[in-house]
Amino acid sequence: MWDILTKSCIGASFMTVFSQEEIDQLASSMESQTPQQIITWAVETFSPQISVSSSFQAQSVPLLHMVSRIDPEILVFFLDTGLHFWETLMFRERLQREFGLHIQNLYLDKQWKNFIERFGRKLYDQDPDLCCYIRKVQPMQRAMQTVRAWITGIRRDQTANRHNAKILELERDGLLKINPLLNWTRQDVQNYTCEHNLPVHPLFEKGYRSIGCKPCTRAVRQDEDERAGRWSGKGKTECGLHTEMFNQDGPGKSALLNGFLLNPNQDENQ
Ligand code: SF4
Repeated sequence: MWDILTKSCIGASFMTVFSQEEIDQLASSMESQTPQQIITWAVETFSPQISVSSSFQAQSVPLLHMVSRIDPEILVFFLDTGLHFWETLMFRERLQREFGLHIQNLYLDKQWKNFIERFGRKLYDQDPDLCCYIRKVQPMQRAMQTVRAWITGIRRDQTANRHNAKILELERDGLLKINPLLNWTRQDVQNYTCEHNLPVHPLFEKGYRSIGCKPCTRAVRQDEDERAGRWSGKGKTECGLHTEMFNQDGPGKSALLNGFLLNPNQDENQ
């Protein structure tokens, strides 16, 4: 269990250590700060060992706009699951061009190649948690080993799980997760988008308020929650990036793995 975070500064010869208590105090003081103030602190504290993750969906635009203005060099991680709407991939290209983003696509590990070939396009129906672990959680865990801080776009009003999140959270291996939009609402996202005349995801006007992989996303009615179209009918509300699954080693137990992948950490060529 990690309880400290060590920050090393490129070009500087000092180390700064935050205790869990200091992180809690900082997080508490940030409750009254704007997202831009929080992002500025994060960049000044961790750059260049910091990244932002984005799914390039309808809700992603304000955060990407802010971070690209505060730190034009910041790395943006995108989980390329292979199952996105083509509109999302086009939107990613557009935002990359217009905001000048430095995007790094993340893919599932090659050790899953045979497994995916077998279950492939049905895995999200048979075991969506396993599918999310393979396509999202594990690639992000690996990407996060290359940085010390991770900026996300989650908001408290999105899910019950996120309601209890903190602005600063210590994750596995000493990684600090920073959630600058935590206190924002859906209306705040819309206001910022309008004020800055930002691009809108092409599926937004078709009722897609929250957009993930195509097989697990449907449009929602006006009277529905914006995330009601995510894993609809599957009893699942989170992919695992923002739950305990992110601190999990390995895919956990799934009947689909029985007898198929004895050692998921073993390279297929070994
Ligand atoms: S959102 Fe659906 S398709 Fe995408 S990784 Fe998760 S279960 Fe698989």
